[in-house]
Amino acid sequence: MNFVVLTIFPEMFDPFWAHGIIRRAIESKKIFASAVNIRDYAEDRHQVTDDRPYGGGSGMVMKPEPLARAIRAASQMQPQAKTILLTPRGRVFNQNLAYKLASLDGLVLVCGRYEGVDERICHDLIDYEISVGEYVLTGGELAGMIIMDAVTRLIPGALGGEDAAEKDSFSTGLLEHDHYTRPRVFEAKEVPEVLLSGNHEEIDKWRLESSLMRTLLKRSDLLQKKALDHQEIEILEKWSDEINRVLKFQHQKRRGRATEK
Ligand code: SAH
Repeated sequence: MNFVVLTIFPEMFDPFWAHGIIRRAIESKKIFASAVNIRDYAEDRHQVTDDRPYGGGSGMVMKPEPLARAIRAASQMQPQAKTILLTPRGRVFNQNLAYKLASLDGLVLVCGRYEGVDERICHDLIDYEISVGEYVLTGGELAGMIIMDAVTRLIPGALGGEDAAEKDSFSTGLLEHDHYTRPRVFEAKEVPEVLLSGNHEEIDKWRLESSLMRTLLKRSDLLQKKALDHQEIEILEKWSDEINRVLKFQHQKRRGRATEK
Protein backbone atom coordinates (compact mmCIF):
# COMPACT_ATOMS: atom_id res chain seq x y z
CA MET A 1 0.00 0.00 0.00
CA ASN A 2 1.31 3.39 -0.96
CA PHE A 3 0.04 6.44 0.91
CA VAL A 4 0.67 9.91 -0.46
CA VAL A 5 -0.64 12.79 1.62
CA LEU A 6 -1.15 16.23 0.11
CA THR A 7 -0.98 18.87 2.83
CA ILE A 8 0.35 22.31 3.63
CA PHE A 9 1.80 20.85 6.87
CA PRO A 10 3.84 17.79 5.79
CA GLU A 11 5.96 17.88 8.94
CA MET A 12 2.87 16.93 11.00
CA PHE A 13 3.30 13.40 9.63
CA ASP A 14 6.92 12.85 10.71
CA PRO A 15 6.10 11.81 14.31
CA PHE A 16 3.11 9.77 13.12
CA TRP A 17 5.34 7.72 10.84
CA ALA A 18 8.08 7.32 13.43
CA HIS A 19 6.17 5.25 16.00
CA GLY A 20 4.77 1.82 16.70
CA ILE A 21 3.08 -0.35 14.12
CA ILE A 22 3.11 2.36 11.44
CA ARG A 23 6.86 2.69 11.77
CA ARG A 24 7.31 -1.08 11.60
CA ALA A 25 5.07 -1.31 8.55
CA ILE A 26 7.18 1.33 6.79
CA GLU A 27 10.45 -0.32 7.79
CA SER A 28 9.28 -3.71 6.55
CA LYS A 29 7.93 -2.12 3.35
CA LYS A 30 4.34 -3.23 4.02
CA ILE A 31 3.43 0.39 3.39
CA PHE A 32 5.13 3.33 1.70
CA ALA A 33 4.26 6.77 2.97
CA SER A 34 5.11 10.29 1.92
CA ALA A 35 3.75 13.76 2.56
CA VAL A 36 3.85 16.26 -0.27
CA ASN A 37 3.66 19.98 0.38
CA ILE A 38 0.85 21.51 -1.68
CA ARG A 39 2.77 24.79 -1.48
CA ASP A 40 5.45 23.28 -3.76
CA TYR A 41 2.81 23.27 -6.50
CA ALA A 42 1.88 26.94 -6.11
CA GLU A 43 3.46 28.83 -8.98
CA ASP A 44 3.40 32.38 -7.65
CA ARG A 45 6.34 33.93 -5.85
CA HIS A 46 4.78 33.67 -2.38
CA GLN A 47 3.51 30.12 -2.94
CA VAL A 48 -0.01 31.06 -1.92
CA THR A 49 -2.43 28.13 -1.47
CA ASP A 50 -5.54 29.97 -0.24
CA ASP A 51 -7.68 32.93 -1.22
CA ARG A 52 -10.80 34.82 -0.16
CA PRO A 53 -14.16 33.18 -0.92
CA TYR A 54 -16.19 34.39 -3.88
CA GLY A 55 -19.41 35.86 -2.55
CA GLY A 56 -17.70 37.21 0.54
CA GLY A 57 -17.84 35.97 4.09
CA SER A 58 -15.25 34.90 6.58
CA GLY A 59 -12.41 32.42 6.20
CA MET A 60 -10.26 31.39 3.29
CA VAL A 61 -10.62 28.71 0.64
CA MET A 62 -7.86 26.48 -0.75
CA LYS A 63 -7.08 27.56 -4.29
CA PRO A 64 -7.75 24.96 -6.99
CA GLU A 65 -4.60 25.32 -9.15
CA PRO A 66 -1.90 24.18 -6.67
CA LEU A 67 -4.15 21.38 -5.42
CA ALA A 68 -4.95 20.18 -8.94
CA ARG A 69 -1.27 20.17 -9.87
CA ALA A 70 -0.35 18.31 -6.67
CA ILE A 71 -3.10 15.71 -7.18
CA ARG A 72 -2.14 15.17 -10.84
CA ALA A 73 1.54 14.77 -9.96
CA ALA A 74 0.68 12.22 -7.25
CA SER A 75 -1.67 10.33 -9.59
CA GLN A 76 0.94 10.24 -12.30
CA MET A 77 3.42 8.62 -9.94
CA GLN A 78 0.69 6.26 -8.63
CA PRO A 79 -1.70 5.56 -11.51
CA GLN A 80 -3.48 2.82 -9.52
CA ALA A 81 -4.06 5.00 -6.48
CA LYS A 82 -7.48 6.34 -5.52
CA THR A 83 -7.76 9.96 -4.49
CA ILE A 84 -9.55 10.72 -1.24
CA LEU A 85 -10.65 14.15 -0.11
CA LEU A 86 -10.96 14.43 3.67
CA THR A 87 -14.11 16.42 4.31
CA PRO A 88 -16.87 16.53 6.92
CA ARG A 89 -19.46 16.03 4.17
CA GLY A 90 -17.94 12.71 3.04
CA ARG A 91 -19.00 9.15 3.72
CA VAL A 92 -18.36 8.45 7.41
CA PHE A 93 -15.28 6.26 7.85
CA ASN A 94 -15.73 2.88 9.54
CA GLN A 95 -14.08 -0.52 9.74
CA ASN A 96 -15.84 -1.79 6.59
CA LEU A 97 -14.52 1.13 4.60
CA ALA A 98 -11.08 0.57 6.15
CA TYR A 99 -11.14 -3.01 4.77
CA LYS A 100 -12.13 -1.73 1.32
CA LEU A 101 -9.35 0.84 1.28
CA ALA A 102 -6.83 -1.73 2.53
CA SER A 103 -7.49 -3.81 -0.58
CA LEU A 104 -6.38 -0.98 -2.88
CA ASP A 105 -2.82 -0.40 -4.14
CA GLY A 106 -2.49 3.22 -3.18
CA LEU A 107 -4.27 6.19 -1.64
CA VAL A 108 -3.70 9.88 -2.27
CA LEU A 109 -5.12 11.71 0.75
CA VAL A 110 -6.00 15.36 0.18
CA CYS A 111 -6.03 17.42 3.38
CA GLY A 112 -8.07 20.60 3.38
CA ARG A 113 -7.50 23.60 5.64
CA TYR A 114 -9.37 26.86 6.30
CA GLU A 115 -12.99 26.62 5.05
CA GLY A 116 -12.11 23.75 2.74
CA VAL A 117 -11.13 23.34 -0.90
CA ASP A 118 -12.49 25.02 -4.04
CA GLU A 119 -15.46 22.90 -5.14
CA ARG A 120 -14.14 22.45 -8.67
CA ILE A 121 -11.39 20.15 -7.32
CA CYS A 122 -14.04 17.60 -6.43
CA HIS A 123 -15.44 17.15 -9.94
CA ASP A 124 -12.74 15.18 -11.76
CA LEU A 125 -9.85 14.80 -9.38
CA ILE A 126 -11.40 13.08 -6.37
CA ASP A 127 -12.55 9.44 -6.24
CA TYR A 128 -13.98 9.38 -2.70
CA GLU A 129 -14.95 11.97 -0.12
CA ILE A 130 -14.45 10.65 3.40
CA SER A 131 -15.28 12.10 6.81
CA VAL A 132 -13.88 10.71 10.05
CA GLY A 133 -16.97 11.69 12.04
CA GLU A 134 -19.66 14.26 12.51
CA TYR A 135 -17.49 17.04 13.88
CA VAL A 136 -15.28 19.66 12.26
CA LEU A 137 -11.49 19.63 12.50
CA THR A 138 -9.17 22.51 11.61
CA GLY A 139 -7.56 20.43 8.88
CA GLY A 140 -7.62 17.09 7.12
CA GLU A 141 -4.25 15.95 8.49
CA LEU A 142 -5.58 14.20 11.61
CA ALA A 143 -8.35 12.66 9.53
CA GLY A 144 -5.73 11.39 7.06
CA MET A 145 -3.73 9.87 9.93
CA ILE A 146 -6.84 8.12 11.26
CA ILE A 147 -7.46 6.54 7.87
CA MET A 148 -3.82 5.53 7.35
CA ASP A 149 -3.66 4.09 10.86
CA ALA A 150 -6.84 2.02 10.58
CA VAL A 151 -5.97 0.83 7.05
CA THR A 152 -2.36 -0.10 7.89
CA ARG A 153 -3.42 -2.45 10.72
CA LEU A 154 -5.45 -4.41 8.16
CA ILE A 155 -2.57 -5.00 5.78
CA PRO A 156 -1.44 -8.62 6.13
CA GLY A 157 1.58 -8.89 8.40
CA ALA A 158 1.39 -5.31 9.71
CA LEU A 159 0.21 -6.48 13.14
CA GLY A 160 2.15 -9.19 14.96
CA GLY A 161 -0.36 -12.07 14.76
CA GLU A 162 -1.77 -12.75 11.31
CA ASP A 163 -5.37 -12.82 12.48
CA ALA A 164 -5.07 -10.06 15.12
CA ALA A 165 -7.16 -7.58 13.12
CA GLU A 166 -9.86 -10.11 12.27
CA LYS A 167 -10.89 -10.38 15.91
CA ASP A 168 -10.95 -6.64 16.53
CA SER A 169 -14.08 -4.74 17.39
CA PHE A 170 -16.32 -4.21 14.32
CA SER A 171 -14.39 -6.70 12.16
CA THR A 172 -16.61 -9.49 13.45
CA GLY A 173 -19.68 -7.28 13.68
CA LEU A 174 -19.29 -7.28 17.48
CA LEU A 175 -17.19 -5.33 19.97
CA GLU A 176 -14.15 -7.27 21.11
CA HIS A 177 -14.10 -9.22 24.38
CA ASP A 178 -12.56 -7.82 27.58
CA HIS A 179 -8.80 -8.10 28.03
CA TYR A 180 -6.71 -8.88 31.12
CA THR A 181 -3.00 -9.11 31.83
CA ARG A 182 -0.86 -9.51 34.97
CA PRO A 183 -1.17 -9.05 37.91
CA ARG A 184 -3.75 -11.68 38.69
CA VAL A 185 -5.27 -9.47 41.41
CA PHE A 186 -5.40 -5.71 40.91
CA GLU A 187 -6.94 -3.54 43.66
CA ALA A 188 -8.91 -6.55 44.91
CA LYS A 189 -10.29 -7.28 41.40
CA GLU A 190 -9.45 -10.72 40.05
CA VAL A 191 -8.90 -11.93 36.54
CA PRO A 192 -11.76 -14.27 35.47
CA GLU A 193 -10.77 -17.79 36.52
CA VAL A 194 -11.40 -19.37 33.11
CA LEU A 195 -8.64 -17.28 31.52
CA LEU A 196 -6.11 -18.96 33.82
CA SER A 197 -7.43 -22.45 33.12
CA GLY A 198 -5.45 -23.15 29.96
CA ASN A 199 -8.63 -24.70 28.49
CA HIS A 200 -8.79 -23.04 25.08
CA GLU A 201 -12.27 -24.19 24.25
CA GLU A 202 -13.60 -22.70 27.49
CA ILE A 203 -11.56 -19.55 26.93
CA ASP A 204 -12.99 -19.11 23.43
CA LYS A 205 -16.50 -19.59 24.81
CA TRP A 206 -15.87 -17.03 27.56
CA ARG A 207 -14.48 -14.57 25.00
CA LEU A 208 -17.50 -14.94 22.75
CA GLU A 209 -19.81 -14.34 25.74
CA SER A 210 -17.76 -11.33 26.80
CA SER A 211 -17.88 -9.96 23.28
CA LEU A 212 -21.66 -10.45 23.04
CA MET A 213 -22.20 -8.91 26.47
CA ARG A 214 -20.07 -5.84 25.63
CA THR A 215 -21.94 -5.38 22.37
CA LEU A 216 -25.36 -5.86 23.95
CA LEU A 217 -24.66 -3.32 26.69
CA LYS A 218 -22.78 -0.70 24.67
CA ARG A 219 -23.84 -1.11 21.01
CA SER A 220 -26.99 -3.19 20.71
CA ASP A 221 -27.50 -1.65 17.25
CA LEU A 222 -24.59 -3.81 16.04
CA LEU A 223 -26.35 -6.97 17.22
CA GLN A 224 -29.39 -6.06 15.17
CA LYS A 225 -27.32 -5.63 12.04
CA LYS A 226 -25.20 -8.76 12.38
CA ALA A 227 -26.31 -12.17 11.12
CA LEU A 228 -25.77 -14.08 14.37
CA ASP A 229 -24.69 -17.72 14.21
CA HIS A 230 -26.24 -20.62 16.08
CA GLN A 231 -23.87 -20.41 19.06
CA GLU A 232 -24.37 -16.66 19.45
CA ILE A 233 -28.15 -17.01 19.37
CA GLU A 234 -27.98 -19.77 21.97
CA ILE A 235 -26.01 -17.51 24.32
CA LEU A 236 -28.49 -14.64 23.88
CA GLU A 237 -31.40 -17.02 24.49
CA LYS A 238 -29.75 -18.28 27.68
CA TRP A 239 -29.42 -14.69 28.93
CA SER A 240 -32.94 -13.86 27.86
CA ASP A 241 -34.27 -16.88 29.82
CA GLU A 242 -32.27 -15.82 32.88
CA ILE A 243 -33.55 -12.24 32.69
CA ASN A 244 -37.12 -13.48 32.29
CA ARG A 245 -36.73 -15.76 35.32
CA VAL A 246 -35.42 -12.86 37.42
CA LEU A 247 -38.23 -10.59 36.26
CA LYS A 248 -40.89 -13.20 36.91
CA PHE A 249 -39.57 -13.73 40.42
CA GLN A 250 -39.47 -9.97 41.07
CA HIS A 251 -43.05 -9.52 39.80
CA GLN A 252 -44.24 -12.35 42.05
CA LYS A 253 -42.49 -10.75 45.04
CA ARG A 254 -44.14 -7.39 44.32
CA ARG A 255 -47.56 -8.98 43.97
CA GLY A 256 -46.95 -10.85 47.25
CA ARG A 257 -46.04 -7.60 49.05
CA ALA A 258 -49.13 -5.87 47.61
CA THR A 259 -51.53 -8.56 48.88
CA GLU A 260 -49.86 -8.52 52.37
CA LYS A 261 -50.69 -4.79 52.72
N1 SAH B 1 -16.12 24.73 6.38
C1 SAH B 1 -16.04 23.30 6.32
C2 SAH B 1 -15.06 22.77 7.34
C3 SAH B 1 -13.66 23.03 6.98
S1 SAH B 1 -12.58 22.35 8.13
C4 SAH B 1 -17.40 22.72 6.61
O1 SAH B 1 -18.18 23.34 7.34
O2 SAH B 1 -17.71 21.63 6.14
C5 SAH B 1 -11.06 22.33 7.26
C6 SAH B 1 -10.63 21.02 6.68
O3 SAH B 1 -10.50 20.07 7.70
C7 SAH B 1 -11.57 20.40 5.66
O4 SAH B 1 -11.34 20.90 4.39
C8 SAH B 1 -11.24 18.93 5.76
O5 SAH B 1 -10.13 18.59 4.93
C9 SAH B 1 -10.81 18.78 7.20
N2 SAH B 1 -11.86 18.20 8.05
C10 SAH B 1 -12.56 18.84 9.00
N3 SAH B 1 -13.44 18.02 9.61
C11 SAH B 1 -13.28 16.81 9.05
C12 SAH B 1 -13.91 15.55 9.24
N4 SAH B 1 -14.86 15.37 10.13
N5 SAH B 1 -13.48 14.52 8.48
C13 SAH B 1 -12.51 14.69 7.54
N6 SAH B 1 -11.90 15.87 7.31
C14 SAH B 1 -12.26 16.92 8.04
